[in-house]
Amino acid sequence: MPKSGLILVLLGAAAVHAAPPPDAPQLQKMIARLAPVPMRVDVAHLSAGDRTALARLIEASRVLDDIFLDQFWSGNRALYRRLQQDQTPIGRARLRYFWLNKGPWSEIDGYTAFIPGVPATKPSGANFYPEDMSKQDFEKWLATLPAARQEDAKGFYTVIRRNPSRALESIPYSAAYKPELERLAALVRDAAAATSNATLKKFLTLRAAAFLSNDYYASDLAWMDLDAPIDVTIGPYETYNDQLFGYKAAFESFVTLRDEKETARLAFYSQHLQDVEDHLPEDPKYRVRKLGAASPIRVVNEVFAAGDGSHGVQTAAYNLPNDDRVVQQKGSKRILLKNIQQAKFDKTLVPISKILLSPADQKDVEFESFFNWIMAHELTHGLGPHEIELGGRKTNPRLELKDLYGGLEEAKADVTGMFALQHLMDVHAIPGGPEAERKLYTTVLASAFRTLHFGLQDAHARGQAMQMNYLLDKGGYVSRPDGTFAVDFSKIKKAVADLDHDLLTLEATGDYAGAKKMMDALAILRPEVKRAIDRLSSVPTDIAPIFLTADAVAPRVPKGRVRPGGPAKAD
Ligand code: ZN
Repeated sequence: MPKSGLILVLLGAAAVHAAPPPDAPQLQKMIARLAPVPMRVDVAHLSAGDRTALARLIEASRVLDDIFLDQFWSGNRALYRRLQQDQTPIGRARLRYFWLNKGPWSEIDGYTAFIPGVPATKPSGANFYPEDMSKQDFEKWLATLPAARQEDAKGFYTVIRRNPSRALESIPYSAAYKPELERLAALVRDAAAATSNATLKKFLTLRAAAFLSNDYYASDLAWMDLDAPIDVTIGPYETYNDQLFGYKAAFESFVTLRDEKETARLAFYSQHLQDVEDHLPEDPKYRVRKLGAASPIRVVNEVFAAGDGSHGVQTAAYNLPNDDRVVQQKGSKRILLKNIQQAKFDKTLVPISKILLSPADQKDVEFESFFNWIMAHELTHGLGPHEIELGGRKTNPRLELKDLYGGLEEAKADVTGMFALQHLMDVHAIPGGPEAERKLYTTVLASAFRTLHFGLQDAHARGQAMQMNYLLDKGGYVSRPDGTFAVDFSKIKKAVADLDHDLLTLEATGDYAGAKKMMDALAILRPEVKRAIDRLSSVPTDIAPIFLTADAVAPRVPKGRVRPGGPAKAD
């Protein structure tokens, strides 16, 4: 655990800053890029037992925050305690921004330090490995181990430390974070005892045991079967913070309530998926006659998020578990956080539409259309070609399209999602008509700029740029001389069907050269789109949730006690 003072002093001496750390006004500006949003979730329908369970899960998640701080950086917990003591304006601003990033590096600025005396950027192995260990050190050590211990050293749930003779060793999470995990397990067991839902009780009981045994397998299986008003994801999951090897899982928690209305709507869409597949705008020979069972999707509202689940840009959807053994046996599950999507929509998409759409079109930008389209995107990942045959060889689009697959598949889901909703409107399965169509296409247009405004680094953004240019070239989107953009409703449906046809055909034929040609020509920012994006500098980058319902259900401070400079509204 953090050998606090000493480490900070040593790092302080060694740290080199390209620019001086931001002062209080600069920090306030950085903080303002994450728009605060009060998160209120209705808990009135929960049984008394479930309300108790919810409170224990929120308390457990706060313990988990502590573990995550330590996983993120060895100096983090000592720095956090020091910031909590600092009552000066700069100290308060640093504490606030530290909490939003769960560390002293600004995530949306490529993890640059905003507090003096810390390393200039986040250590690539976080605190999963000794900071002085190189990749080669690890690999050399690994080669000396018997196979079973190699698996352990590379596993999700161990940290690598130096023993007193400075040799490397792997320590299970259950030992490395023993006091915190014992508290976490006790709270999760209390939640299990309080709920009367059998699937939740089973998951929580097994997960509490996993925190102490370090064996998460049975509880991951139980999570796949979870079917309850309280939907919770809690434990070590994603490995993105281990940038050295991508082996080690960070603790995160999402305490959520199932959204009954959207869950019903999703089930309804799912029933019509085969009909959409049967009408996809592609050569009929590529259509899948009988779709396989789709992965489950849950729509939930977030009451509280912690650890790796709550820093920097907020998670709006996730797909878990990552353990291949579980995925092989039970598949994986996709969770959509509806109220987080709504908050992002309100704070980023609506302001973008006010800058880039005409006043008449702005009123057609609507959350319901946006969320319908997100659900359609997720569902239509399951449509189209997945197993293909090329010259008698069985293969799949991912293998054939290689590095281009990610961007094309995301674009395919975006476009097939629009096509699917239009198809459902046309066959009267969902309410359609000119107004519904206006809202769908106008909202998707505004959403494209939200994705592009982050740059073209990730696959989704490159796929988005390609769609934008294709639809502009086909006349479905129009760029006006006054700098606004609009949908041409006489052309958009055909443009979308044409684009979907081209994308589905590239996947069906595994045509890497064709895909490369298309992406090279279209996955770029053309001048008019670049100019539009440059006008979005005042739009918040993302949101900072304030968990009001969580604080009401599980108050953080005993009544009458004053918090000593803690982030009163930070988490
Ligand atoms: Zn997707």
